[in-house]
Amino acid sequence: MEFRVFLGGAFRDGVAVREVQVPYDGRVFARVHTGDVGMLDEAVAAARKGFGAMRTMTRARRAEILLETRRRLLENADWMARVIASECGKPMREARLEVARGAGTLLFSAQEALALAGEEVPMDASAHGAGRMGMVIREPLGVIGAITPFNFPLNLSLHKIGPALAAGNAVVHKPASATPVSALELARYFQEAGLPEGALNVVPGPGAALGEALARHRDVAMVTFTGSPEVGVRLREIAGLKRVTLELGSNSAVIVEADADLELAAPQCVSGAYAHSGQVCISVQRIFVHDSLFAPFVERLAAGAAALRRGDPVEETTEVSSLISEGEAERVAEWIAEAVGAGARLVTGGEREGTRMRPAVVTDVPPSAKLLAKEAFGPVAGVNRFGDLGQAIGMVNASVYGLQASIFTRDIQKAFRAAREAEVGGFLINDVPQFRADQMPYGGVKLSGSGREGPHYAVEEMTERKLIVWRV
Ligand code: NDP
Repeated sequence: MEFRVFLGGAFRDGVAVREVQVPYDGRVFARVHTGDVGMLDEAVAAARKGFGAMRTMTRARRAEILLETRRRLLENADWMARVIASECGKPMREARLEVARGAGTLLFSAQEALALAGEEVPMDASAHGAGRMGMVIREPLGVIGAITPFNFPLNLSLHKIGPALAAGNAVVHKPASATPVSALELARYFQEAGLPEGALNVVPGPGAALGEALARHRDVAMVTFTGSPEVGVRLREIAGLKRVTLELGSNSAVIVEADADLELAAPQCVSGAYAHSGQVCISVQRIFVHDSLFAPFVERLAAGAAALRRGDPVEETTEVSSLISEGEAERVAEWIAEAVGAGARLVTGGEREGTRMRPAVVTDVPPSAKLLAKEAFGPVAGVNRFGDLGQAIGMVNASVYGLQASIFTRDIQKAFRAAREAEVGGFLINDVPQFRADQMPYGGVKLSGSGREGPHYAVEEMTERKLIVWRV
C-alpha cells in the first residue's frame, strides 16, 4: 500500500518514499511519500488559500463537514483501527477505542463550530463610554501548523484539526514519521466530506526540518505541538510571536492512601501503567502507596502486570504489544537496570526482546533514578511508600512535569487536599491520571506544556477576539 502527501486538496507524490513498519516485528505495513521544506512552503501557500474559504464558510457548513468526516471515519472504523494498530503497535482493542474517541473529538468540534460566539461589551459601564455599543467577535487566526506524535496518531491529530477547522482556520499537519498513514487516511475522509482545497494539508517528513520550518514560517499564525518536552521547548524558542500550544510529556503520579479500595486501585493502575506499553503521555509511572497497603498493593499490581496477554497488535486478544522502536525499548531497559543498580527492587517483568518488553514493576526507586525523575514512556511502574499525605503530595510535586495526577482514597478531605495541592493540569479522584475524555480541558503545567486541548478549549486558543465599537 502506498500513501501520498495531501496538499492543496489532492494527493501528490512527495520527494522521497519511506517504509512504515509494524514495530512489533518490523514487517512493512505501507510505503509513504514524504515532503521537504519546499513542499512544506507549498502546503502553507495552499493553506493560505484554504483559509480564505474557511473564514467565510458558515458555522453550519463547518459543522456539517466535521460531522460528515465523522460518519466516514465510523464507516471505516475497522480499517482505521487496523492502521493505528499496525503503524504504532497499539493493541487492536485500544486502537478501536482511539477510533471511537476520534469520532467523539469530531462531534465535539462540530458542536464548537455551531456554538462559537463573541459577546456584548457594556460600553456605558464607563461614563465616557456612554452613547456607544461594543461587541467582541471571535475570528480565526489563519494557518495553523499542527505537529503530532506517534502514540495516538488519529485522535491527537483530530484534537488539533477538528477545533482548527471548527473555528475557521486552515491547517498544515506534520504527523510523526513512524505513524503518517492514519493522518493521510483522515485527510481523505475530510476531502470526501467536502472540505475546501487547501483547508487541510498533510506533509509527512523529517521532524526537525519540517517542524522547525513550520514554526518559523511567517504565514503560519499558530503552532500546536504534541510531543516531547525537548522539541516543544525548542519550538517555543523559534516561534517568535506566533501563538504556541504545547502538550508535552509527564511522569504521572498516583497516591494510594491507607483507606483506598485496593480492588479498585490495583487493576486501574495495571491498565493505567501498561496500556499501549506505557507510551501514553499520562501513563501511570510513579505510584506512592501508604506503608500499611504497600505489600498487598505491590502483589496485586505485579500479578496484574504479569497476567497481561502479550502479542501482535493486530490480534484482538493482545493486551500488550511492543514499544515504537528497539532504541526506545533499550532505553527503558537501561533505566530499569540503573534503578536496580541504585537499590530498587525489580518485582516482575523488564525482560526485553527487540522492541518487546514484559510489563515491569519496580519498587523502592531512589528519587534521583531516571525511572522516577524522567518520563519513562514504557511498560514500567515505579512503586514507593509514604507515611502521611503531606509527604505523598510532596513526592507527586517533586517532578519537573505536571500533566495529571490522582489519588485513591475514601476520605473526601484527603482527596480535595491532594487535588488542591498537586501541581498538575488535571487531578483525578479514585481514578488513574491516565484517564482522559475528549471534551475535558487537557494540558499541563511546568515542563508538561502550556495551553489546553479539548475542542472547546482548543477553539479558545485558535481564535482571536476582535472588538467593534460604534456610536448609537
Ligand atoms: P517527538 O517530540 O519525538 O515527536 C513529536 C513530533 O514532533 C513528530 O511529528 C516529530 O517528527 C516532530 N519533531 C521531531 N523533532 C522536531 C523538531 N526539532 N522540530 C519540530 N518537530 C519535531 O515525540 P514522540 O513522537 O516520540 O512522542 C512522544 C512524546 O509525546 C512523549 O514525550 C509524550 O509524553 C508526548 N505526548 C504528549 C501528549 C500530551 O497531550 N501532553 C500526548 C501524547 C504524547 P518525526 O516523527 O519526524 O521525528
